[in-house]
Amino acid sequence: KPRTLLALNWKMNKTPTEAKAWARELAHGYHRGEVELAVMAPAIDLPGLKETLPGGVDVGAQDVSQHESGAYTGEISATMLREVNATYVIVGHSERRQYHNETDAVVAAKARQAQAGGLTPIVCVGESLDVRERGGHVDFTLDQLRASTEGVGPELVVAYEPVWAIGTGRTATAQDAEEMAAAIRGALEGLYGDQAGSIRVLYGGSVKPDNIASICAGPNVNGALVGGASLNVADVIGMNDAL
Ligand code: 13P
Repeated sequence: KPRTLLALNWKMNKTPTEAKAWARELAHGYHRGEVELAVMAPAIDLPGLKETLPGGVDVGAQDVSQHESGAYTGEISATMLREVNATYVIVGHSERRQYHNETDAVVAAKARQAQAGGLTPIVCVGESLDVRERGGHVDFTLDQLRASTEGVGPELVVAYEPVWAIGTGRTATAQDAEEMAAAIRGALEGLYGDQAGSIRVLYGGSVKPDNIASICAGPNVNGALVGGASLNVADVIGMNDAL
């Protein structure tokens, strides 16, 4: 089983000053164990963040341009993120799909560009409430996964984040998470063969210190992608210790 990943998604929170204060606070009480911890910060927070965090904690970004470089005003390239120590980048988060109209094709292009620049993409997939209620969640999510990984190599992480569980306090059950993670694993085996075994599949959506252990207990769930509870150091230490 691949190493468990606790990935934090700060979303649009924390200035560079706040980010460094958070990183220093984490050093008190954080015990590096078997779990890999990675902080997905706003890009502007990244310079100096890795050095301020306790040893072994990784950093990443929340988005990346689908282009390598050039006349794309406002965009940030994978190479730029790599230079400020990013090892991961989230692509295709549901908030970007919803508010920035990112299609599966754009998400796949971003993931390819991330890999070309030396980053590991965390490709997000997951269904909305109406899809879940009519029972189409597995087909929807696997179709989204295949389209969002078109031409993407096996050096990736997949995050299953059902849209109805994000920021709502409504969590998938451990069985829901494992059911989808197992289906995702099967699809990854179809895409990557033997290499699928080393791809981590995360669950995201209202994960907290008191539910992370049960949600990540399934054999196909290799960690979590956490939004709200990632902002608070005590919660992060609690989640790290619970895993
Ligand atoms: P919450 O943990 O706040 O539900 O957010 C989940 C998420 O979107 C992580 O990317």
